[in-house]
Amino acid sequence: MDFSKHLLLLLCIVVSVLFDCTNGSSMLLERAKEPEFMDWMVGIRRRLHENPELGYEEFATSELIRKELDSMGIVYKHPYAVTGIVGFIGTGKPPFVGLRADMDALPIQEGVEWAHKSKVPGKMHACGHDSHVAMLLGAAKILQERSSELQGTVVLIFQPAEEGGGGAKRMIDEGVVQNIDAIFGFHITSEIPFGTVASRPGPIMAGSGFFEAVITGKGGHAAIPQHTIDPIIAASNVIVSLQHLISREADPLDSQVVTVAKFQGGSAYNVIPDSVTIGGTFRAFSKESFMQLTRRIEEVIVRQASVQRCNATVDFLTDKHLFFPPTINNPSLHAHFQKVASDIVGPANVRECQPVMGAEDFAFFSDAVPATYYYFVGMQDESKSLASVHNPFFTINEGALPNGAAIHASLALNYLSEFGNNFPNKGKVDDASHDEL
Ligand SMILES: [Zn+2]
Ligand SMILES: [Zn+2]
Repeated sequence: MDFSKHLLLLLCIVVSVLFDCTNGSSMLLERAKEPEFMDWMVGIRRRLHENPELGYEEFATSELIRKELDSMGIVYKHPYAVTGIVGFIGTGKPPFVGLRADMDALPIQEGVEWAHKSKVPGKMHACGHDSHVAMLLGAAKILQERSSELQGTVVLIFQPAEEGGGGAKRMIDEGVVQNIDAIFGFHITSEIPFGTVASRPGPIMAGSGFFEAVITGKGGHAAIPQHTIDPIIAASNVIVSLQHLISREADPLDSQVVTVAKFQGGSAYNVIPDSVTIGGTFRAFSKESFMQLTRRIEEVIVRQASVQRCNATVDFLTDKHLFFPPTINNPSLHAHFQKVASDIVGPANVRECQPVMGAEDFAFFSDAVPATYYYFVGMQDESKSLASVHNPFFTINEGALPNGAAIHASLALNYLSEFGNNFPNKGKVDDASHDEL
């Protein structure tokens, strides 16, 4: 009798341990879905949506975030990169794992009529960064409640100016990711159903650059072309030749893009202009392909223009638009993501996505942190089609906020307990502590 009682007790302990192990992550989702928690996240997202701020101008956004961190008792350092904030939860000691959200809005006039429409003319959170902030604060709340379980330190990174401003790069230059072993970023998307998440190992978003070229000839009467050097013809041939960089020089299995999106020249029907300006963008999924494109774009423009006796200058505009490297997901972190996300949303709702040609400044973390990982949180609404990002009619399915908060929190929590100091950068941080702590 006594023996069977002990056996029963042992069985109960084993079952409860197993239950805790397999359902610990789903408990984070349950917490984020609690009405009070959900209302709090939605409230943050709506307040930010009403007051969108462009890159490096996120002052009110930054203040709101800091007030929320204060109320949770989370220590932070600010400002980085003008408006950025870095918060810390856990032991204050290695290992350090980063969670990132971007904060900036876009120069778009909101077209959606609803109770929390943007109050700022010409500015809108049309890329969902308001929801990213709400989800990272949600993750912070979950992690702070479980701070005694953290076997290291979670670094919360709220960065400015993702939309072309290179906010991540500037945060890195100011030392934010020093000693961080791994960092996770996410983006809300209406491309996959609500309740699902998606990512892939390896390249997930392209490297991106811009170029502008001025092709100069000699203007004159359009009916007497022999007295001119026509830059319109030269620019036209340049554009056709640029397409051959993809169709004839690039590996067909290595996706790349060269697009000329700007062509400005001439203002009258009977005048050949002195010069033409063309410009565009190029994309690639490896640094090698990207640098090859950069070199060849300049060569093709200058040399093809010379065939038509024109001169050409090429500017890659890096003073205003940094080259964005490709976003590459660490394969080991992909396995980690699949496990964590499966526990939260179910294995059937964890999808593998194709790489996309869009660029993300999260990619800058790749050069500064040993392991980076980026994923998408689905919010596709079955009852209505949602406009895509960067559209005046873009909307968020706020029901997806708990998914992002719980997965972000669980990625960090489980990273610290599973990888600890053993991955991927053992040795480098053994004696390190974060400057701010
Ligand atoms: Zn965007
Ligand atoms: Zn975005």
